[in-house]
Amino acid sequence: MRPRIAVAPNRRPGDYLAAIRLAGGDPVLLDPNLDRGVEVVAAVDGVLLTGGGDVSPHLYGEVPDPTFVPAEAHRDALEIELVVRALERDVPLLCVCRGAQVLNVALGGTLVQDIPTAIPRAIAHHVPYPTDLVAHEIAVDPASRLARWLGAGDPHPTCAVNSRHHQAIKRLGESLRVSATAPDGVIEAVERDASRFCLGVQWHPENFRKTGEFRPLFEAFVAACAAFGHGGR
Ligand code: MN
Repeated sequence: MRPRIAVAPNRRPGDYLAAIRLAGGDPVLLDPNLDRGVEVVAAVDGVLLTGGGDVSPHLYGEVPDPTFVPAEAHRDALEIELVVRALERDVPLLCVCRGAQVLNVALGGTLVQDIPTAIPRAIAHHVPYPTDLVAHEIAVDPASRLARWLGAGDPHPTCAVNSRHHQAIKRLGESLRVSATAPDGVIEAVERDASRFCLGVQWHPENFRKTGEFRPLFEAFVAACAAFGHGGR
């Protein structure tokens, strides 16, 4: 049985669904108008949070910056509920881009609302096309589980990534730790030691599905989902 993996709503879900299928999972795309986090998490072996608009700053106690672009209606509430319920049941959780930001906010963290205005010396993090264009390198903490999940044997691993975000994690959410940073210090990945698999990445590994750079990462995620499914919910 291929593990069933809930995929958060997305306007262009193709690469997410394909990356999950290539790694051996059975993706189920959620509808923000119909699905409820508690029911979804009870019925799947894993949760993938996807990219999209900005998390409402009201959720972390700030006033929206002029650059604020909201996500589709109901996504904030659905996805925060998915995080809370997935962590409660220790359901594997992979959070991409906006997803990493949702994970951080759900755990009480805050966000940099606009990298270019908040961090004037930042490198370019919004390089939209083509989607698999390498925008910058990241330094991966060699002690992190991310380093293992990337299949990196190097003791000081770096990794070339794409980048399509104008926000980033600021104050870290409770129980998260940083597992990768960009050369300007922007947080590019976080993970949670207390979970069997809980990872947030600020880049878009799914866009490399054809060339396979991040297939080991999706395979590690799907393997964790399969193990969770076999262990019984
Ligand atoms: Mn970036």
